[in-house]
Order: sequence, then C-alpha cells, then structure tokens
Amino acid sequence: MSIAENLKKIKNDLPSDVTLVAVSKTKSNEEILEAYNTGHRVFGENKVQEMTEKWSSLPEDIEWHMIGHVQRNKVKYMAPYVSLVHGVDSLKLLREINKHGRKHSRAIPCLLQMFIAKEDTKFGFDEQELQALLANEELKDFKHVKIMGLMGMATFTDNRDQIRQEFHSLKTMFDALKSVMPEVSILSMGMSGDYDIAIEEGSTMVRIGSSIFGARQ
Ligand SMILES: *Cc1c(COP(=O)(O)O)cnc(C)c1O
Repeated sequence: MSIAENLKKIKNDLPSDVTLVAVSKTKSNEEILEAYNTGHRVFGENKVQEMTEKWSSLPEDIEWHMIGHVQRNKVKYMAPYVSLVHGVDSLKLLREINKHGRKHSRAIPCLLQMFIAKEDTKFGFDEQELQALLANEELKDFKHVKIMGLMGMATFTDNRDQIRQEFHSLKTMFDALKSVMPEVSILSMGMSGDYDIAIEEGSTMVRIGSSIFGARQ
C-alpha cells in the first residue's frame, strides 16, 4: 500500500480524540509530502538537525514534534518553531528550553518523558524523580515552557501483557499528574507495534512511523 493509503487506514481506525504523529525520521521530503497532501499536518522527528532541515524546506503549516532524546546544545535550533517536545527527561533540559523559549517570546510545549520499560536503554524520569521535579520551586519560574503531559515507550518485546502493564502504569502517573496540574492533556504513548494497546490504556497521542512510511533502513 502507498503512504497515503496507510495513513488513511490508520486514521480511520483511530478514535477521533487521539492525535496521530506521523513519524518521518529518515524519510525524504517527497515521502513526507505524500502524507502532507492527504491533509496530514503533524510529523515527528528524532534528530534536531534533520527536523530543522525538513522544517526549512517543507510547507510552513506542518507541526513538527521532537520525539527523540534532545541534547541541550541543540535546543536553540528548534526553539523558533517546534510544536511539541516529547522527550524532556531532565530539569537541565527544561531550563535550556525555557531559556530559548524566552529568546523567541514563546512558551514551548513539552512532555515529560517517563521511564516505564524494563530496559536500560531508554531515557526518562521514574516516579520519584517526577515528584522531585514537580516539587522544585524553579519550575514555577519557567514562563517559557508549557508542560502539556507525559510521554513513554514500552519495552521492545512480543509480550503484550507486559506492554499493557507498562502503559497502564504510565496512565496512572498521568492521572496523578493531572490531579495536581489540571491543565495537562496529552499522554503520548503507542508506536506502530503497540498503539492498539496504548489506546485501550488511555493514550491521547500515538507516534507511528513504519506502519505509515514502511520500514526504515
Ligand atoms: C521511531 C519512533 C517511533 C515510531 O516507531 P515505529 O515503530 O516506526 O512506529 C515512535 N516513537 C519514538 C520515540 C521513536 O523514536
């Protein structure tokens, strides 16, 4: 099937209140435009430099989401335009995003990345670290970041029960966060292999790449 057909099929299957981020990392401008021309506007990249090159050469009304791990020295390149930073995993990074948000007179929307997988390769806060971050007085001074919710990745495994448990625990953390920050609204969880489970467990935003664009090299 073509990119346009894949995209239409996935969108038909998604509940209307779940946002689809089309993950276009490693894919060409032509492939992205094929998705764009169906009316899709939300794209996700995991490298700041690649995203910035695409942003500068593709239509202005694309919403670019940074879904990967962000190095602090790269924040300045995406600060003028990024729509949502999914992978905020430290106070230092939040501080840097705030600094560059101020330079561009904007509040940059961010998700806090939670570590939910049973792997040691993935970034993110654990529950205690999240509590510590929320208790930090400095957070109130960040006028140029806007915490919109949480993001997480399940373990890369065929064990669907385990994936479900991990998403369930992230949803529990999200509900707890919402009780102290009622303005948060986004729970970013679910990729090509597990977005059906993520939606059943309460995801509001899925990040789907290979099921739209085909396998990556
Ligand atoms: C690459 C990536 C995705 C999309 O993965 P697919 O399996 O291709 O859907 C989602 N989230 C993150 C953080 C990624 O890096």
